[in-house]
Amino acid sequence: MSPGLLVVVSGPAGVGKGTVVSLAREKNRDIVFSVSATSRCPRPGEKDGVNYFFVSRDRFQEMIRENALLEWVEYCGNFYGTPKMYVEQELEKGNTVLLEIEVEGAHNVKKQYPQCILVFITPPSLEELRNRIVKRGTESPEVIEKRMQRAKKELEQLDRYDYVITNESVEDAANQLLEIIEKERNRLNKKNMHKE
Ligand code: 5GP
Repeated sequence: MSPGLLVVVSGPAGVGKGTVVSLAREKNRDIVFSVSATSRCPRPGEKDGVNYFFVSRDRFQEMIRENALLEWVEYCGNFYGTPKMYVEQELEKGNTVLLEIEVEGAHNVKKQYPQCILVFITPPSLEELRNRIVKRGTESPEVIEKRMQRAKKELEQLDRYDYVITNESVEDAANQLLEIIEKERNRLNKKNMHKE
């Protein structure tokens, strides 16, 4: 079993989990973030290697064949996946590794790392979620509908999560995430101490 803590954050696209996770990482620089690979095109302002590793569909399928992904999913027409080696290395070093992925991927990770912590970020309401995606202005009406349908499905799976955070304010949500990480980190440290 790895000595590090694996934290998986999910939540419907548009809920603001990227912003919550960024703020949490700013406040706690020890958290290691796993950058996913995707076949989706970059949105304005997104950088390769920072937000995602942007790859072609062919390259993504090659990564699947090479067994280079811890988990992967096809989500609203694009591939997304977690590069395996980085996560494994960082966990072995004892670090706290954070994945920001959708629910299907989260459950696949839980199967492989039953000791990982699943955190779900919810919007205050579905209406608020739609407003946020529309305000972002990067998606066509068709994609917005697809993402809303998917969000409803994801919200049905809340009870499979260890923790649920409602994103009323980014600051509060980030602080709640950090509290959860600290609590679980202490629990893990105690466990590891008993093993020594
Ligand atoms: P977006 O296109 O809005 O950046 O991401 C769409 C969804 O894919 C989000 O819910 C995001 O959390 C999820 N996602 C991003 N990277 C991964 C990944 O590596 N694996 C899985 N399963 N989902 C991912």
